[in-house]
Amino acid sequence: MRIGLEIHVQLPTKSKLFCTCPNLQSKEPNSNVCPICLGMPGSKPMLNGRALELAAVAAKTLNCRLLDRTWFSRKTYFYPDLAKNFQITQFEAPIGVDGHLNISGRKVNLWRIHLEEDPARAVHELVPDQESSLLDYNRSGVPLIEIVTAPDIDDPAHAREFLRVMLDELRYVGVVSEEEEMKIRADANISVTDGERVEIKNITGLKNLEKALDFEYRRQNKVSVAGIEVKRETRGFDEERGVTTALREKEEEKDYGYIFEPDLPVYDLKGIAESIEFPKTTSEKAAEIEEEFGLPSERTRLLLLDSKSLGDLLVNVARKTDPERAFRWISTTVKAEHYRHTEIGLDDLADEIIRVVDAEASSKISDVVAKSAIRNIFERGDAGQLTEMRQDGGELEAMVARILDNEPALVDELKKRPKTVNHLVGRIIRETEGKFDSKKIVEVVKSAVEKR
Ligand SMILES: [Zn+2]
Repeated sequence: MRIGLEIHVQLPTKSKLFCTCPNLQSKEPNSNVCPICLGMPGSKPMLNGRALELAAVAAKTLNCRLLDRTWFSRKTYFYPDLAKNFQITQFEAPIGVDGHLNISGRKVNLWRIHLEEDPARAVHELVPDQESSLLDYNRSGVPLIEIVTAPDIDDPAHAREFLRVMLDELRYVGVVSEEEEMKIRADANISVTDGERVEIKNITGLKNLEKALDFEYRRQNKVSVAGIEVKRETRGFDEERGVTTALREKEEEKDYGYIFEPDLPVYDLKGIAESIEFPKTTSEKAAEIEEEFGLPSERTRLLLLDSKSLGDLLVNVARKTDPERAFRWISTTVKAEHYRHTEIGLDDLADEIIRVVDAEASSKISDVVAKSAIRNIFERGDAGQLTEMRQDGGELEAMVARILDNEPALVDELKKRPKTVNHLVGRIIRETEGKFDSKKIVEVVKSAVEKR
């Protein structure tokens, strides 16, 4: 099976690609519009320079080679969502070419990344049973980058994973916003056997991408098994029914009749790229963290892909206490709490998190106390009193011995089923209000049981 993707990502610019209308979702249809994004005769596009810069950042992040010069083309297009009857896009001179991204050790090559305008949104569902559609031009002219992969993707799950990692990478460098994952639109080419490839148009979101490809894989298999040739065609994905349906025979690129866009100049992309400060990618940042703190970059890169702010917090905390402990806490409890309280900025919590991680790293408090202290930080803004761990002379050992003396059945149970140790650990933590470290309790219980 071979899968290739064409992915459309909205760029988070303040204004649209060729006019000064705000690049904002607006509930009121056709409120963010002007003669340029409505495509009125005589209006002339003006390029939003920030969109060009962001496209260059995306291309570089995905390991593309930037072209020296770039320009725009008109793609002939007859549909009311683009009233001027052409889309301004790029054909001969995209922003970047020949990129790649490694996903779980498998390399997916990227053919090109180019910049283009989004068409208006056609709304069909508001007028049921009527043979009419409504058009909302608020989306018309929103800047998109289109990323085209080689057919290097092996299966539907791999496609979904590729798209997730690619979005995470682009989010890290500020090219996509947090919500983009829901809105991401992709066209997918898939050929199952040696048959023709079928294109599935306009799939929205990661989950739907996997579902659409799964369905198409099964459909093409059935068709081949029945001895029928798979036709080259364009299909759509019906989200509600989870099926793909035939739309039209596939058109070729040449059918679009691209011509050079005469209202826009040729851009010196090399010069523009030299003037941009490219943000660090996750790989670059992870390598830097490894250099400074000795934390393995494969592990920290996953944290960075998860969230840039968790990565920034890691650097901040690791500078002031044990880096290994900092990573352990930030990649587990802090991360979980961060996702439960997305409204809270991590910067304000850093000092308290440092206090807790440092106390745990220097064995002043147990992991149990540290965990609940971190929850407190997110719930109340501070860790509260950190109950110091008892630096006991055998107090824990005595407590475990007392329990085992009183409950011989428990000793048998622990010998037969070593996992029951977790119950006992929980009980001791409750009775002592977390004054002993859970790993220490496990150790003490195990050695006591062995001696009996
Ligand atoms: Zn406009």
